[in-house]
Amino acid sequence: APDLAAPAVKTTCPYCGVGCGVIATPDGQGGVAIAGDPDHPANFGRLCSKGSALGETVDLGDRLLAPTVDGQSVSWEGALGTVAGGLRRIAEQHGPDAIAFYLSGQILTEDYYVANKLAKGFIGTPHVDTNSRLCMSSAVAAHRRAFGSDTVPGCYEDLDEADLIVLVGSNAAWCHPILFRRMVDARKNRGTKIVTVDPRRTQTGEEADLHLGLQPGTDTALFSGLLSYLAGQAKLDGRFIEEHTAGIEGALERARQIAPDAAATARATGLAEADVQAFFELFARTKRVVTAFSQGANQSAQGTDKGNAIINCHLATGRIGRPGMGPLSLTGQPNAMGGREVGGLANMLAAHMHFAPEEVDRVRRFWKAPNIITGEGMKAVALFEAIERGKIKALWVIGTNPVVSMPRADRIRESLKTLDLYVVSEAVATSDSARAVGKKTVLLPALAWGEKDGTVTNTERRISRQRAFLKAPGQARADWAILSDVARRLGHGEAFAYNSAVEIFREHAALSAFENDGTRDFDLGGLAEIDRHAYDAHLPMQWPVPKRGPDARKGRARLFADGRFYTFDQRARFVAVQPPALAQPVTAERPLVLNTGRIRDHWHTMTRTGKSQRLSAHRAVPFVEIHPDDAARHRLSDGGFARVTTDLGSAILEVTVTDGVLPGSIFAPMHWSDMTASDGRAAALARGITDPVSGQPELKATPASVEAV
Ligand code: SF4
Repeated sequence: APDLAAPAVKTTCPYCGVGCGVIATPDGQGGVAIAGDPDHPANFGRLCSKGSALGETVDLGDRLLAPTVDGQSVSWEGALGTVAGGLRRIAEQHGPDAIAFYLSGQILTEDYYVANKLAKGFIGTPHVDTNSRLCMSSAVAAHRRAFGSDTVPGCYEDLDEADLIVLVGSNAAWCHPILFRRMVDARKNRGTKIVTVDPRRTQTGEEADLHLGLQPGTDTALFSGLLSYLAGQAKLDGRFIEEHTAGIEGALERARQIAPDAAATARATGLAEADVQAFFELFARTKRVVTAFSQGANQSAQGTDKGNAIINCHLATGRIGRPGMGPLSLTGQPNAMGGREVGGLANMLAAHMHFAPEEVDRVRRFWKAPNIITGEGMKAVALFEAIERGKIKALWVIGTNPVVSMPRADRIRESLKTLDLYVVSEAVATSDSARAVGKKTVLLPALAWGEKDGTVTNTERRISRQRAFLKAPGQARADWAILSDVARRLGHGEAFAYNSAVEIFREHAALSAFENDGTRDFDLGGLAEIDRHAYDAHLPMQWPVPKRGPDARKGRARLFADGRFYTFDQRARFVAVQPPALAQPVTAERPLVLNTGRIRDHWHTMTRTGKSQRLSAHRAVPFVEIHPDDAARHRLSDGGFARVTTDLGSAILEVTVTDGVLPGSIFAPMHWSDMTASDGRAAALARGITDPVSGQPELKATPASVEAV
C-alpha cells in the first residue's frame, strides 16, 4: 500500500520498555526514514540497533491482509459473524468462562482497554491474561505486597543522579540499551558505580565495576544477606522504618536465617566472600542507590520474593522516592505497563482496581456492565493448561505468539487443536501462532507499528503516543475497532460505540479517576477530557496526572517521597522472603541449568526484527552458550552443534563456548521459532513452574542435558 507521504511524525519505538521517541519520515514509496526524537525524555534522540533498523521492517511481505476462516479468505462481515456467533454459542453451552483472551504487551493501551472491558464486563469471563505474565508479573506482585499498589516509584532521571546502580537479572546493555547508555553516562559524569548480579557475565557485566556471578536462583540469599549486613552495621533508617513501614522484624529475622552475614551469603550464592563484602560495603556507604531488576529476577518460581528482597533493602534504608534512589523494575515490553493500567492481567479488574466488592461495583457502574466478573481469572500458564483439559473452548489471541514464547509450547500447539473457536488477531500471516489451528480458526488482520494510533506506557510510567504514518494495508484494522465490532454483534453496541482511539483513551482516563479520592495510585483525571487536538499533540507524561493540583498538567516523576504508600494504613510492608531454591533441581540425567533470554538485535519471536538483514547478521542461528569445562565434558566444540534436551523436548543449537556462563549452566536465546529455525525454540523446553504469588513461569532454570550432534 502506498503510504501517506506525510511529513515527519513523532512516535514511539515498538520494542522494549525503555519507550524511546522516534521520528518517522515516510518516503512516499512505502519506506520510512527513522531517527531518534531529540525531545523525547526517554532517549533524547538516541536509538539502539533495533530502533534504528525500524525502517527495514515495514514491508508487507508476510502480512496478513485479509480475514480468513479455516484458511479461506472471507469478508470482514463473515469473519466477525463467525467470531461473534462462536463466542455466543460457547457462552450459552459452556458458560462465559469457557472463553479466554490472551493479550500482549505489544498492543496499545486503547486496544488493551477495549479487550479487557469486553471480556470482563460484557462477555463475563475472567480469563484474560497477557504475555506480560511472562515478563514482569512478579514485579507487579512485589510492588503490591510492598506498596499496596503496582507503582514504579522512580524515574529514569534517578539513573542519572545515582551514585550506585545495581542491576539484578538484567543484561541492560542488550535488552534496555538506551537506558544502559544513560547509566554509563552517569559513570562518566559523576563516577556512578555499576554492580551486576547475574549468573551470566553478559555485555552489561563486562562493563560493570563489580560483577556478581551468583548461582542461579540465589538472589534472595544475596539480598537477605545485604539486609542482615545493613542491620548489623547500624545502617538502617530507623525513623523511616518507624514512621512509614511495617513488618521489619519478621523480614529481618527471616533474612538472618537465610544469610546472617557476608560469609553465609557467599556460601549460599557461590560468590567469593570478598566480592560479597565489597558489594555490601558499597551499598551501605552510598546514599543514592538504584536497584534495577528485570527478567532474571522476574522469570522465576521465586520471582516475587526476589523483588521483595530487593525492595526490603530500599525500604530499610529509606532509599525510595527521592532523587537517585529506589527500586526500579525494568519492564520488558513497550506497553506492559499500559496493560497493567487497564487491568489486562487475570488478577486485576481495571485501572489498578482488583476484586474488593466496592471495586467490582465501581467498575460495573462505570461501564454499565451487564456481566461484570467478581474474581480473578486464570493466569497464562494455567489458562493454557485449561485448554488442554478442555475447560476453555474459545481462545482469542491478540498480538502475541504463544506457540513460540510460552513454556511447554509444543503441548500448547497441540491443545489449540481442541478449541471449538481459535481467533488470532495478527499483523503477520506466518507466525507460528497464526499457523496453528483449532476446530474453527479465524485470522483477523491487525494494524502494525506505523499504522496504528494510540498510547503506550514505558518503564518509568511515561505515557507516549504511537502515531500512524503509513496507510492501513489491505483490509487490516485497529484491534479496538475489531473488538468493538464483535461487541456490537454480541448486543453491546452502546458501550462500544467508539470511532477513534482518543474516545477510548478518554474513557480509560475517566475510569482511573472515577470515585478516586487519592487512595488509588493510577489517576489520569487530568486527561479525562482530552480532545482530539490535545491527544494528537500529547507530550510524553508520567502518571499520575490527576485533575487538580501541581501534577495535573505534567504528571509526576517520583512517588512515595512523602513516605505515604497505598496500603490501608499508608505504610509500606516488608516481606519475609523464602530461602533460595530451584523449582526443579538438576539430576544426573539433566545435570545443567538452562537459562533463556534475549539477544541484542532480535525482539521476541522475530516477526519484525527477522526482516532486517542487518539485525539478523548479529547472530544468524539459534545457539547455546556453555562453559569450557562442560563443553569438554560433553565433547562439544565452539561452532559445532548440540542437542539440548529437557523433559519437554529438545532443540538443536549452535555451540558457543564461553566462560561468561557458570560451570553447570547453559544459556539459549528465546527468539527463534519453527518458522525461522527448525528445532530452535528455547522457551518451549521449559516446564513453566510458576511463582505461587505472581503466576510468572520459571524460564531461567530448567534442568537440561546436552550432546553433540
Ligand atoms: Fe527501541 Fe528499546 Fe532500543 Fe529504545 S532501547 S530504541 S525502545 S529497542
